[in-house]
Amino acid sequence: MYDVVVVGAGPSGCMAAKYAAKRGASTLIIEKNAEVGVPVHCAGLVSSRTLEETELSNIESFISSEIKGAVIHSPNHDMHVEARAGNRAYAIRRDVFDRALAEEAVKSGAGLITNSRVIGMVAGNGGVRIRVRVAGEVREISAKVVIGADGVRSAVAEIAGMNFRKYILSCVQAEGCYGDGDCAEIFVSRAIAPGFFAWLIPLGDGNARFGLCIDKRYSAPGSTPMHYFKKFLHQHSHTSHLSYSGGEIPIAAASLRPHKTVRVMKRTGILLVGDAAAQVKPITGGGLYYGLKCGKIAGDIAAKAAYKDDMHLLYDYERRWREEIWMEIAFGIWVHRLRCMLRDEEFDVIFRLLERERTRIEREGDMDYPSLVLRELIIKPEIFMLVTKGVIKYICGRGLDIKEG
Ligand SMILES: Cc1cc2nc3c(=O)[nH]c(=O)nc-3n(C[C@H](O)[C@H](O)[C@H](O)COP(=O)(O)OP(=O)(O)OC[C@H]3O[C@@H](n4cnc5c(N)ncnc54)[C@H](O)[C@@H]3O)c2cc1C
Repeated sequence: MYDVVVVGAGPSGCMAAKYAAKRGASTLIIEKNAEVGVPVHCAGLVSSRTLEETELSNIESFISSEIKGAVIHSPNHDMHVEARAGNRAYAIRRDVFDRALAEEAVKSGAGLITNSRVIGMVAGNGGVRIRVRVAGEVREISAKVVIGADGVRSAVAEIAGMNFRKYILSCVQAEGCYGDGDCAEIFVSRAIAPGFFAWLIPLGDGNARFGLCIDKRYSAPGSTPMHYFKKFLHQHSHTSHLSYSGGEIPIAAASLRPHKTVRVMKRTGILLVGDAAAQVKPITGGGLYYGLKCGKIAGDIAAKAAYKDDMHLLYDYERRWREEIWMEIAFGIWVHRLRCMLRDEEFDVIFRLLERERTRIEREGDMDYPSLVLRELIIKPEIFMLVTKGVIKYICGRGLDIKEG
């Protein structure tokens, strides 16, 4: 029996496995796909802090370009924000990134099996028996602790009855020719990407990633992200040779009782980490930094609980990750709700007002902790008025005038 089995060889799972193995736990990663990191469903924009969080020395192998700032386009306004030196963002290649993290986990002592899908789990006094489909056959693997790092539609969460209320945003992305540029572009408009935004990230080789994400509760009935994306690409007629991919982003539902990411049954335990636990920034959809951070905590605590044979130690995971990032996520959930309420004219007003605070945003803005600067800007009188209007609209349900698609 393994001390720790991690389901999913994404960044959160590999980091959890690395930390569990480093702490001496016998650890196995189970991945359903044939190859780690493939297929890619990510824009791959990360902060320099995320790169540090990986603890990898070969970061050049997956960096495509350095992003020196962002242009935020609202329908009738463009706001240019420069990133200060030392706080730049990077476009990365997710396939290479994920593989590098998996190699580190294996070097630390974790085992890795691919082409293996977890399809069931039964908890008993002798550990969790995990049913895995490998090449058409079903095998059983046992573990004291299971870490579900299996993404947005986590099978572990589903099987363990740990599904919580969340909204799943739908995305589509493409890579293609673009030209020169070293700034990311963000397009905020209900007409372009209702409930979220569209992006363009230059890769430094004449290509870029174009994508958008929508919250279907606020999009036209029956519409899909592709429907909006085709219109968006049409406006960028210089793009060509596109290869498409889809993807989903989980946003935890706002609730006074936060969702649970730990379950202890008999003498076994289950933890959720990364997208499986909706450890994602609701404002930007970025999940890599939080996933790596929480993966470390999960691996560490899982190893300790297995070693001491005391599953109650697992509750420490919930406490520690919430201490680190929950306030940021909770703030982001509210900002996401508000942006879903705003009309295009109101986005223009907000970005015109934010323009006046540009120097401060450039100085204090932080893509991993956006609330640090936003919290203070939101209480500026004119912005506060719009926010209050948004809250009233939300409470009265008027923001739901365009129903689920
Ligand atoms: C379009 C798009 C753009 C994004 N852009 C960014 C960005 O620019 N920056 C950023 O920080 N984040 C971004 N994100 C979010 C980021 O991709 C995720 O937060 C991140 O991948 C989460 O990592 P994870 O390890 O938790 O899950 P995942 O990366 O989803 O990994 C889960 C793994 O589990 C495996 N798995 C699933 N089910 C099973 C099963 N039953 N058995 C075995 N294995 C299983 C999967 O194959 C996968 O390998 C974006 C997301 C999308 C959709």
